Amino acid sequence: MSNLLLAAVSVTSLFAQGDKVRIIAFGAHPDDCDIRASGTAALWAKMGYPVKFVSVTNGDAGHQTMHGAELARRRLAEAKESARRLGIEYEVLDNPDGKLLPTLEVREEIIRQIRGWKADVVLAPRPNDYHPDHRYTAVLVQDAAYMVVVPAVTPDTPALRRNPVFLYYEDGFQRPNPFRPDVAVAIDKVIDQKINALDSHVSQFYEWLPWVDGKLQDVPKGPAERKAWLKKARTREINPAIRASLVKWYGAEHGNAARYYEAFELCEYGARPDDARIRQLFPMLGH
Ligand SMILES: [Zn+2]
Repeated sequence: MSNLLLAAVSVTSLFAQGDKVRIIAFGAHPDDCDIRASGTAALWAKMGYPVKFVSVTNGDAGHQTMHGAELARRRLAEAKESARRLGIEYEVLDNPDGKLLPTLEVREEIIRQIRGWKADVVLAPRPNDYHPDHRYTAVLVQDAAYMVVVPAVTPDTPALRRNPVFLYYEDGFQRPNPFRPDVAVAIDKVIDQKINALDSHVSQFYEWLPWVDGKLQDVPKGPAERKAWLKKARTREINPAIRASLVKWYGAEHGNAARYYEAFELCEYGARPDDARIRQLFPMLGH
């Protein structure tokens, strides 16, 4: 082993809970993580970093005609297909959709998930959002931060030795404070893979969400046409704050060339990484 390789190995083991940086992402519903982080997840997965998406509810209320166990089964299958297309794991917890509360019981489920995955990075929504399940997922994950290292809490699952780094997904809500893109990941190389993952969630992107918006008639019929339609609907222009973050992490040339991105804001309740550690946790930055 060369000295350089030895140095790389020791730095990784210094920072990770195990041999390799491990990532877990939480969403309220079985498509939320996919919308906010599946491009970054695909990049991590390609580099050999284990990624797990967890839906805190089973999604059994998210459709205009189908609901209950039948819908929950369908959405679980869609989530598993998305995971297959991304090269990651996906677990759907059996809490009812539209009824999530930040109880101690669900907090313990989240603690077990983070510990069981030996996570170094935890992704979750911000706590101010239009949907109560999104808000409470955010609160539940915040409530698990730090508690994951306390052995007397949820003693059936061994505690982590280090508090992971917690980050929030991007959203457009302005109050009480707008999203701050501390980390912006260029996902141009995997944008089609991301859209392909979203395309797994047929019940959502081609049925339920267009129906809620009164746009069901706009959904194209052909598989290629609807994927192109989905890509257009789910990508947007890069605003100046995101562009500045891309330039910070990738340099002017690559940062200005990026067209597709995902961005994350550091949560104050997890470990506080410096820029060097962020580069270690997000090894795709700069590439
Ligand atoms: Zn959702």
